[in-house]
Order: sequence, then structure tokens, then C-alpha cells
Amino acid sequence: MTYAQFHQRSLTERDAFWTEQAALIDWQQPPQQVCDYSNPPFARWFVGGTTNLCHNAVDRHVAARGDQAALIAVSTETDTERVYTYAELQREVERMAASLKSLGVGKGDRVLIYMPMIAEAAFAMLACARIGALHTVVFGGFASGALASRIDDAEPVVIVSADGGSRGGKPVPYKPLLDAAISLAAHKPAAVLLVDRGLVSMNYTAGRDHRWSDLRQQHLDARVPCEWVDATHPSYTLYTSGTTGKPKGVQRDTGGYAVALAASMKHIFQGNPGETYFSTSDIGWVVGHSYIVYGPLIAGMATIVYEGLPTRPDAGIWWQLVEKYKVTRMFSAPTAVRVLKKQDPAYLSKYDLSSLKALYLAGEPLDEPTAQWISSALNVPIIDNYWQTESGWPILTLANGVQAQTSKFGSPGVAMYGYDVKLFDESTGEELKGPNQKGVVAIEGPLPPGCMQTVWRDDQRFVNTYWKSIPGKLVYSTFDWGIRDEDGYFFILGRTDDVINVAGHRLGTREIEESISSHPNVAEVAVVGVADNLKGQVAMAFVVPKDASALDGDAARLKLEGEIMKVVDGQLGAVARPSRVLIVNVLPKTRSGKLLRRALQAVCEGRDPGDLTTMDDPAALQQVRELVQPG
Ligand code: AMP
Repeated sequence: MTYAQFHQRSLTERDAFWTEQAALIDWQQPPQQVCDYSNPPFARWFVGGTTNLCHNAVDRHVAARGDQAALIAVSTETDTERVYTYAELQREVERMAASLKSLGVGKGDRVLIYMPMIAEAAFAMLACARIGALHTVVFGGFASGALASRIDDAEPVVIVSADGGSRGGKPVPYKPLLDAAISLAAHKPAAVLLVDRGLVSMNYTAGRDHRWSDLRQQHLDARVPCEWVDATHPSYTLYTSGTTGKPKGVQRDTGGYAVALAASMKHIFQGNPGETYFSTSDIGWVVGHSYIVYGPLIAGMATIVYEGLPTRPDAGIWWQLVEKYKVTRMFSAPTAVRVLKKQDPAYLSKYDLSSLKALYLAGEPLDEPTAQWISSALNVPIIDNYWQTESGWPILTLANGVQAQTSKFGSPGVAMYGYDVKLFDESTGEELKGPNQKGVVAIEGPLPPGCMQTVWRDDQRFVNTYWKSIPGKLVYSTFDWGIRDEDGYFFILGRTDDVINVAGHRLGTREIEESISSHPNVAEVAVVGVADNLKGQVAMAFVVPKDASALDGDAARLKLEGEIMKVVDGQLGAVARPSRVLIVNVLPKTRSGKLLRRALQAVCEGRDPGDLTTMDDPAALQQVRELVQPG
């Protein structure tokens, strides 16, 4: 069967197609109905079926491959390396599950996980899945403000965290940020479970804080059976940025997600049991959920959980791991490759990389020089894949497990099975069926298994945000511009909204603006994403001060810039820190007061800002030009 036929069948014989894919996982009760789309855009997959994600990722492999590696935890920060077999992983997850239960966590409860890249983070995720609790992983790079808003939205019964992480050999404390977040939040968790790595000393709050080492010891022999849950039972929420300041809790189901991941491991990633998968992402992002923890384990593979930089102790570390653990499939982001490209290429030829069969890159546009460099350095297919937190697995890529397809530079590939991807004219809502027309990339419902079910506790927001932006059509908008060529290959041309992508991390400019506005001397602020050679994009902030009288000299301006960066660091975390904060007298706006964001961005990138006839004060853009393009 050609891939085109495979894709076609997934849409025209949807139920038969997904019934076959559903056989890739274990069910306690088989599904009664493949897809219930009686209440669009809410899709309910595998209705009537009961299953468990942890069972599919761990327990079902124990009999056949209990002694094989399941989780390989490597930290070049603490110089530790530990291989957990499937049998050992099961026991650790049971200990964690028993501990969570003893702290009051039950089915449907939320557990917030704020952790560095250590094995215990994966144990905690799997333990939640095991007992039918929902995990909400918050990226360790987020600071107390961002964490507090997620605590209030998720209302976790328990928070699992650690004393700290480590970056470049320096400990990064987590506990003080967590304590600050809990005091900021209106919701208070019943308990906090803390992994003490011996990196940073911790203050324990009596009655609330518990040591993982103590609870693990108490539950050393605990056996906690997997809780069979409905296929539609939510497995987790994961927050992502959008156009408004408030992050959205992307809610995922259980059965559809397990099937989608199992199918993707077969058709897209071609991972086989007993092989090793290495994804360099972080469990705080969707790639970490799908392709560090669940996907590889569902496929019976060993997965590497790596804490550390790609360049420390030297730029050969990833390739050393590929050689040592005979990695067959590797997943990373273009930014990381651009970092390595600056290093001595000898690091790549130093190791035996013959096990490696493909490198998958995602999260941001893959530029041609980066793709070409890594492809000639590794001599394996480099496979771009385009998706989102919301989709949970690739929307556009090449399903080489179905039929080997040639890639085209600059294109992440073709629509994946299950996705009816279309392009629409943003203003008329007309579908653009011909080749090479630019439109909004959208997906006709139902979204396939594995995609978001809804926005956590906000069905209306799910509908309004994603399904109402194309005039007259109930279709899911990705908020990305794209074109499709005559062969069905898509090219992604950037976001239609105010979301920016810094080093593959998605950030909402509004969120950063809200944070900057809390500085007492900020009257107005605009944050835009500006093209950057290394990170893809960086955030640049333009601030109109309330009181400019004290900002005459360079030193005073630098001081304010520094203070503003600190505010962002403290509230959102260093990931969201703008690369520059520029003080201006006025922001470029239309006469009706609308911020000319695109013009601001164009000037920062040295491009023509386009039609400015509606601009209120032309001097505003001139000042920006002088600041960003000195001389
Ligand atoms: P996130 O939800 O953080 O994964 O961000 C998703 C967004 O990242 C998409 O909507 C795109 O704007 C961008 N993105 C992800 N993968 C790619 C890719 N392969 N090529 C171009 N843009 C991408």
C-alpha cells in the first residue's frame, strides 16, 4: 500500500483503520465504538474500551522483556548513570504510586510534577497513569509566577518536586520557587513529595512536605495494580501558551493517546522492542511526554532520560550515548543542532554511530543549512516533523514505516494518517485547494486519536480558541501559515498569532508583556519575536516608562532593563526573558490605538514594515529603527 492510500483510508474508512491501530495496545475491555463525533468538535475515541497507559508502557512488557533496559537515566550534571530494566521500572513506579495514594491521590485527581530531568520524574508520570490520576508537568525552567497560575488552574492534590536541578555544573534550586509559588497560589496542595538529590538544602514545611526516600522505603514492597480506566478518561494536562496571557491546560485522553503513540512508533518512528530511543527534549514539553516517556516505552524500547547540556563535558556527549546504548532513533530540535554545528565536527566522527537509523527534528522550522550539516555529518535520514502540544504526535512528517518517502528541504512532509489537513483563506474562510497557495493550516474534525480532548475545565475556550477562527467553518486552526505543493508536501511559514518560538519553546508574547507590566515604572509594553540565527527567534521588549525623568543616562536605562529582565526571570523563568528590553517614548500604533506588532517585528528584523498609512505617529517606528539598527 502506498502512503497516499494509507492516508486516504484513514479518512474514508476511519473506523476500520483505527480499529487496526487499536490492536497495537492492550485493552481490558475492548472498545464498543471507534469514534463518537456526535457533539463536534468534541471527539470521543474508543468509547466503551478500558485500558491503562502505564500498563501499556510498563507492565505488559515485564513478562517478555523484564530484564531488558526500559529507562536509562543519564546525568552529566551529577555524573550519574543508571539503567532501569522493565521489571525495575515497574517496581519503582509501584512505589511511587503507593506513595501518592498514601498522600491522598485518587482516580481523577491531579498531581503537579515540577522536576528536573531525572528518573523519578518519569516514575511520577507513570505512577499517576497507573492509578488514574492526571499529571500536570510544569517545565523546570518556569519560575514561581508561571508555576502558581498552573497550580491554581490544575488544583493538584499533590506536587512532586525536587531540591533542584543543575545546569552547566551549577545547582539550580527548585524548592524555593515551589514554596513561593504555593504561597502565591490560592489553591494549596495537600502534600508535597520531594526528591532530595543532595544538590541544594531544603526547608521542609511540617505536615505538608514529605521525603521521597522515606515514602519509597515505606512502600518498598508495595504492589499497586493498574487502575483500568475508560479510554476517554483524561490522562494528563499540559499547559501551553496562546494569544491570551493565561496558559491553556491541554487535556489528553487515555485510550486514544496510547493508540496514537503506538501507531506513531510503528509507522513514523519505526522503533522496535529492545532498541534504544533517545529524545533530547525535556519532560516539561509535549515531546517529552510522547517521545521520552510514553511512546518509546509503549513500543517496548529503552528510553534515555538525559539531564545536561549537549556540549558538556564536550560536544560529543550525545554521540557517546548513541554509541554506548546503540541508539537507533533519535529525536531533537533544530536549535540544539545549531548549537552543535558551532562545535568541532570531529566530535561526530569520534564515535561509532552505526546503530543510528534516523534523526527526527521538531518544534521549530528546520533551516536548510542546519539540515544539510547534520545530514552529512550523521549520514542518516533527517526527518522533520511538525506538530503541537495540542496534537500530541506529528501532524506533518513522513511515515517511512508505511512507505519510504523522499524528504524535501524546508518541508516537514505530508499530512499524517488520521489528519485531514487543509488550508484556508483567513479572511474569507474559503478552502485553498490548489497548490502553492498560502493559507492557515487547519484540520477537519474529528481530530485523530491522541489529540487534545478539550481545554482543562473550559470546553468553551476549546471551541472558541481553536474552532472559530476560520470564518464560517468548524475546523481546528493550528495558527500556523502554510502552503502545500503539488506533491502534497506542506511548508510552514510561521504563526498567525502572537505566539513566538524561542529555541523550540513556545511562548506567548502576552504572557511576557503581562509580567513586564508589573514593574512599577512600566506604562506600556510590546513584546515581539525577532529572527535569531541560533534560537530561531528571540523575544524583544519595547517599554514606555511611566516616569522617564530619571532615565536620561545609559546607566539608568540599563538599570531599568536589568530590573525588567529580573521581573520576568522571577515570574516566568529565564526561558521567557527577552533578549533585549528597549526603552521608547511611544509604541507604534494605528490611529485607533492598535499596536502595530508586525511593523515592529519587521523593523527589528531589518525588513520593510509594509503599509503604515494607518500609523498614528511615524516617529514611533523611527525611534525603534534607531535603537535596533544603530548607525
Ligand atoms: P509546541 O506546542 O510548543 O510544540 O509549539 C508548536 C508550534 O511550533 C507549531 O504551531 C509551529 O508554529 C512550531 N513548529 C513545531 N514544529 C515545527 C516544524 N517542524 N516546523 C515549523 N514549525 C514548527
